[in-house]
Parts: sequence; structure tokens; C-alpha cells
Amino acid sequence: MIIAHGGAGRWEHYELKEAVKVLRRAVEIGVNELLKGGSALDAVVEAVTLMEASGAFNAGRGACKDSSGGVSLDAGVMWMERAGAVAHVKATWNAVKLARAVMEDTHHVLLVGDGADSLAKSRGMPPLEHCQSTSSRGVVDTVGAVALDSQGRLASAVSTGGIRGKMPGRVGDSPIPGAGFWVAKRVASCSTGVGEAIMMTHPCRMTSMLYEAFGVDLPIAVKASCEAVKAPCGVIALSIEGGAAAYTTADYMPISVATEEVVEVQVLEKKCSYSKRLAK
Ligand code: ASP
Repeated sequence: MIIAHGGAGRWEHYELKEAVKVLRRAVEIGVNELLKGGSALDAVVEAVTLMEASGAFNAGRGACKDSSGGVSLDAGVMWMERAGAVAHVKATWNAVKLARAVMEDTHHVLLVGDGADSLAKSRGMPPLEHCQSTSSRGVVDTVGAVALDSQGRLASAVSTGGIRGKMPGRVGDSPIPGAGFWVAKRVASCSTGVGEAIMMTHPCRMTSMLYEAFGVDLPIAVKASCEAVKAPCGVIALSIEGGAAAYTTADYMPISVATEEVVEVQVLEKKCSYSKRLAK
């Protein structure tokens, strides 16, 4: 099963329409990966890659511009007690796959700037400058996905262009483990919203702690972690028990959820919880 979000923020209705369509495709692709025998990691990376490629979100091809008109991307993935992340990437739109490469093929967790760009080039990853949307889009939000595979393994992935008009060089919460994404033993999550506030609160780590250490129900753990962030935020999470939950303190956060049997898309409004038990 997989849950994805298209970013917590101030969405326009016409943007939501397109985002919701892409979000549906993203979780369908994620579930297909799982059905083909792929891992939870494959599922989240493929779902996020599709959203990065779509140009419909503030990630990958659709990333927003900084105050000097440049575009730089941040992304992170986590699975099996390992994490990989990249920040201030300018060489490729497919930041989530670059984060996966950091996790799988280096001894590091976070690569930034020129180092991350060199890795992207050495892998022949698709360049950012060929993407039409980087110059015109960027009016909408960050993407993320969390999946659980048939072997009970959880993965989380997130990708973003940051915040509109950011100072060149600014990095937000998204590539920071515990802040933008986290996978613990029984729960995985990712967040979206104002990175400066999220980095000071680490809502993903907090969700795991509340759920695993204190036995708090998943929807309540997600809500409490999200509300602890003193700025608009959104969190999605999945547990190995098959619970899915999402919550936002921003105006809107589109989400999609899929299992083999069901694909569901919703636009969560401010302070509305989503919660579902997807498996026994
Ligand atoms: N959290 C992202 C950042 O601050 C932005 C977002 O989620 O919309 O970089």
C-alpha cells in the first residue's frame, strides 16, 4: 500500500484538479511496483519520480524559482534504517533517484551542491535545464510518498523545489531525516510545509516516537506532530499494521492512497484528518 501527497499550501482550484490526477497516477504506479514484486523503496521512488516529471508540483520539472531566478532541488529517501538525501541540486530534475543513489552507493547520508550535481552527471541523470516547466511553473507544492511492501518493509521519499523566492543556497526540511521524512520500525512518514519551522520540530521523528514509544494512535500522532510545527505543515504516514493517516494545518493538501483493490484521492482541508485502516 502507498500514500502520497502533493504538498501542503495555498492551492488554487485549477492547480488542484491537475495535481489530483497526477497523484492518482503516482500511487497507481507505486502499487504496480509492489505488485510486480518491487520493494516499498521502489514504490515510493517511482511515485515521486512521476510527480517530479509531471511539472504539476513544486518538485523536479515544476520546481519554483529562488529570488535570483534559479532553481535548486532537495530530496530524501529512507528505508531499512538507511537514508539518502540531496540538497541544492541543479544538475537533474530527478532528485529523488539521486537521493536513492546517495543512500545505496555512497557512505554518506546527505550530498549537497556541486557534489550532488557531480553524482547526477556521473549517472547520466536527465538534466534540469531541458525541462520546460522550471521557468514557468512553481506555483504549487512539494511531493512525498510512503509505502509498505508485502514483506512488511516501509519506505519514505520526498522531493521539493523549496519555497518560492528563497535565498539562493537555502535548504529546507525535505532532505533532513526526521524533519522531511523518517522510517522507524513500525511507522514511516513524510512532511511538507514551511521548512524553517519543520526543521526545528522534526514532525516525522515525532510521529514515530508518539506511535511506537507512547502507543498513541496513528491519526493522533500525525495530528499532534503536525500541530507542533509553528507554521503551515502537512504529514502523511503509514504503519506496518496497515494504518494510513494524514493531516494538515495548511489551507489544502491533496493526497492519494492506494492498495491493490482501492485507489482514493482526497483534498484535505485545513485541520481535517484522513485516517484509514488499509489492512488487517
Ligand atoms: N518543506 C519544503 C521546504 O521548505 C516546502 C514544502 O513542503 O512545500 O523546502
